[in-house]
Amino acid sequence: MNIILLGPPGAGKGTQARHLVESRGMVQLSTGDMLREAKDSGSEMGQRVAEVMAKGQLVTDEIVIGLIREKIEAGDGAGFIFDGFPRTLAQADALGELLEATGQGLDAVIEMAVDDEALVRRITARSTCGSCGEVYNDITKPIPADGKCVKCGGTEFKRRPDDNEESLRTRLMEYYKKTSPLIGYYYAKGDLTKIDGLAEIDAVRDSINEVLDA
Ligand code: AMP
Repeated sequence: MNIILLGPPGAGKGTQARHLVESRGMVQLSTGDMLREAKDSGSEMGQRVAEVMAKGQLVTDEIVIGLIREKIEAGDGAGFIFDGFPRTLAQADALGELLEATGQGLDAVIEMAVDDEALVRRITARSTCGSCGEVYNDITKPIPADGKCVKCGGTEFKRRPDDNEESLRTRLMEYYKKTSPLIGYYYAKGDLTKIDGLAEIDAVRDSINEVLDA
């Protein structure tokens, strides 16, 4: 089963993708994570994208499609969760072609709907465990008082350099200009289900499971 989690930055795509990895053994394909890894590894491509990412702009279709192509061609039985991909119509077309060429399909596109003010509140309060990636929020899920990650006991937490108000504004603009047309694209194909991304984390997880089990 292959699915797309679609929604603006801060909608909770990564958090829900991690649940699906744990509960269903699916494989999370986050182009954001892949690009951050490339940046941290100091590769030539990573250096090229670093500035674009820090500003909150989109990396070129060519680069992200290349990253996804490698993973799809390698294949995986349990299925993929596309998290943060596709973000443009060209990426959506490329994904459809790649899946078809490898004899795979797309089972669901889940739109995680949230309002903009909630996004700004969520993102500017967000941090993650440096060891396992568990996501925290200063307001709704603060780092425990003993300074240890609830999942792995790690003691280092980090904030993304693009989780600041200025980059966020650009990321939101990129989302509305280039990614939100995908809602209509997948609706017209009959693949889209919209869920309330502002509900509690467990309720969002239940809504996603309902879609996948339907
Ligand atoms: P994310 O972790 O999904 O919020 O992505 C972080 C940043 O990586 C984005 O703001 C973009 O600069 C870049 N990025 C991630 N995925 C894509 C994509 N599918 N297309 C273009 N740029 C992307």
